[in-house]
Amino acid sequence: MEFDVTRPLLADKTAVITGAAQGIGYAIAELFVSEGARVVIGDLDADLAAVAAEKLGGQAAAVGVRCDVTQSGDVDALLSAAIDAFGTLDVVVNNAGITRDATMRTMTEDQFDQVIAVHLKGTWNGTRKAAAIMREAEAGAIVNVSSISGKVGMAGQTNYSAAKAGIVGMTKAAAKEMAHHGVRVNAIQPGLIRTAMTEAMPERIFAEKLAGIPMQRAGEPSEIASVALFLASDLSSYMTGTVLEVTGGRFM
Ligand code: NAP
Repeated sequence: MEFDVTRPLLADKTAVITGAAQGIGYAIAELFVSEGARVVIGDLDADLAAVAAEKLGGQAAAVGVRCDVTQSGDVDALLSAAIDAFGTLDVVVNNAGITRDATMRTMTEDQFDQVIAVHLKGTWNGTRKAAAIMREAEAGAIVNVSSISGKVGMAGQTNYSAAKAGIVGMTKAAAKEMAHHGVRVNAIQPGLIRTAMTEAMPERIFAEKLAGIPMQRAGEPSEIASVALFLASDLSSYMTGTVLEVTGGRFM
C-alpha cells in the first residue's frame, strides 16, 4: 500500500468513539481530529459529550451524542449520527467502560452484570453494527479497548477481567468474519493509565501496580490514543485480529 506522507493519517475519515467525553476516549478523539478526522463522541452524559465536541472544534469537526452502549438502539443512533453529520463511517473505537471492583466474596450479581453489559455487550453492539455498515463500503477499522486485566486476570476484578478477556475473543472472531469484507478489527490492552478510572483507586493499590511496571510510571491517555491512531489508520493496513499491549512493559 502506498502512503501519501503529506496527508494527515485520517484525512476525510469519520470516526465514532464511545465513552469519549473524558479520559482515554477523549484523548483518542483529540488525536483523531488533529489527524484530519471528523469525530462523533458517544457518552452516557449528553452535556459532557456536547462540551467535549465543542472543545474539539464544534460542528465541523466533532459532534456529541448521548449513548448508552448497552442499549442496541442507542448504538444504532450513534452510528447513524456519524453518517448524518459527516456522510461516512470509517472508524469505530469501542472504548466506553466502567469498573465495579470487589472480591468474589463481596461482589454482587448486579456489579458482575453491569461490567459485562458495558464492556462485552457494549463492544459487541459497537462491533457488529459498525461491521454491518462498513462491509457495504468494503472498508473500515474497528478498535476495541480491552485491558491487560483481560490477559492476566486481576484479583478484585473477576467481572472486569472476564469482560476484557472476552473482548479479545470477540475481536479475533469478528476479524475473521470481516477480513474478506475489507474491515479490520483489532484490540488494545492498556496497562495503568492516568484517568478518572484510576484516580478512583486507593493510593495503596495504585502504588502496588506502579511497582510492577518496568518503565516505572503510569501511562498517559495520549499514549493509548497514538496506538488507536495506528490501528485506525492505513499504517496498520495489513493487521487484523491483533491485540496490542500498551503497558510500559507490565505483564509482558
Ligand atoms: P473513564 O475516564 O472513566 O472514561 C470512561 C467513559 O465511558 C466515561 O465518560 C463514562 O461515562 C463512559 N461510559 C461508561 N459507561 C458507559 C456506557 N454504558 N455507555 C457509554 N459510555 C459509557 O475511563 P478510562 O480510563 O478513560 O477508560 C476507557 C477505556 O479504557 C475503558 O474501556 C477502560 O476499561 C479501559 N482501560 C482503562 C485503563 C486505565 O488504566 N485507565 C486500563 C485498561 C483499560 P460516565 O463517566 O458518565 O460514566
